[in-house]
Amino acid sequence: MSFWNAEIVAVGSELLTPFRVDTNSLYLTEQLNTLGIAVVGKQVVGDDGERLTEALRAAFLRSRLTVVTGGLGPTTDDLTRECSAAALGVGLQRSAVLVADLEAFFRTRAPTRKMPASNLRQADLVEGAEALANPHGTAPGQWWASADRVLVLLPGPPRELRPMVENEVLPRLRRIVTPGALATRVLMLAERPESEVDGLAAPIYARYPDVESTILTTLPGQIELHFRASGASPAAAQARADTVAEEVAAVFGTSVFSHHGATLEAVVGGLLRERGESVAVAESCTGGLLGGRLTSVPGASQFFRGGLICYHDELKTGWGGVSPATLAAHGAVSEATACELAAGARLGSKADWGVAITGIAGPDGGTPEKPVGLVFIGIAGPEHPPVAVRREFWGERERIRGLSTQAALNRLRLTLAGGL
Ligand code: ATP
Ligand code: MG
Repeated sequence: MSFWNAEIVAVGSELLTPFRVDTNSLYLTEQLNTLGIAVVGKQVVGDDGERLTEALRAAFLRSRLTVVTGGLGPTTDDLTRECSAAALGVGLQRSAVLVADLEAFFRTRAPTRKMPASNLRQADLVEGAEALANPHGTAPGQWWASADRVLVLLPGPPRELRPMVENEVLPRLRRIVTPGALATRVLMLAERPESEVDGLAAPIYARYPDVESTILTTLPGQIELHFRASGASPAAAQARADTVAEEVAAVFGTSVFSHHGATLEAVVGGLLRERGESVAVAESCTGGLLGGRLTSVPGASQFFRGGLICYHDELKTGWGGVSPATLAAHGAVSEATACELAAGARLGSKADWGVAITGIAGPDGGTPEKPVGLVFIGIAGPEHPPVAVRREFWGERERIRGLSTQAALNRLRLTLAGGL
């Protein structure tokens, strides 16, 4: 079975600046995927004729479908028409129908203004192309197809591009693409280094060359494994992606916190909800990040009672319930303090579970005995006397704070799931 692949070329010098993002290609990818067309590459090219022609020629030679966005306006820096014709080795032809359409558009939208002559360029079609109607602007799109290649030119403004994709491009593609489907499966792993995950998973996905496997670190301490497969039907594609995903998941056991791309906080929330229990937090070095993650889950009030940000020692002993003797003997960053804070959060809030984080996020404040990156995570629960785990993270402040919330959520998840 031969599936279609596609490339996207986003045209516009502004897309190469920090001020404008190419969002069209994301939208296009989503739409093409619904037809089972995989996007295998994309390029962002400035308004430079030579580079654009080269980029288009390369895309066109490699890929069955090339979709170009932008550069269809009337100004001299809009070069997509000329460069597409050059890449295909054909000429441009001015369409009398499009000239009439443009004149009519100007008569209704700007009756007092004469249409600038430069606008006529928008009536130029790549030889052999069909115009795609643009009810929201002056630049028509273009559709060019041969036996084994399709080139589509679309306007840059998203409000013009999107309706054109839905009304003109997708119906045409549906008539010619091999019916097929793409399916994805996402495994989420916590607290495993990327190199280790890759080392264990790579030999498995090497045995499934037809399934596209990607490894991503999406948050400190969080790895996603994406498996994408194609098949004759959505069910066949899904079955293929599932086969590889489950084989890989088996290797990582409880490190996999979701088999379907859920966030760690949503998984923890789900476990608490299932049990009809609640959690409260006491955070020192993460300053509310853990509470922030838990409350980002819709419906968090069903399982999250609240939290305490206890930076100052007086808050750890006051609200946090840590005994001054513990603090004096072991310090704020210690196993004993983490345990008492977890217990304090739990009792003080009447939650079933208490989770505490105390540590040194850096860059200052480390000592030889307690270096930057040293973090204790405390957990206390019903029939679960307070325990704390010690972590020594490395890296800059935000990474250490992120790893701390990840470790805290993951400890709670494993405890709730009975894995600890
Ligand atoms: P116009 O007739 O408006 O000139 P055009 O087809 O020439 O249309 P561009 O000039 O390339 O399109 O882009 C017009 C505007 O559309 C840009 O300023 C930008 O706001 C938006 N735009 C262009 N390309 C993209 C893209 N890839 N993703 C998101 N927005 C885009
Ligand atoms: Mg333009």
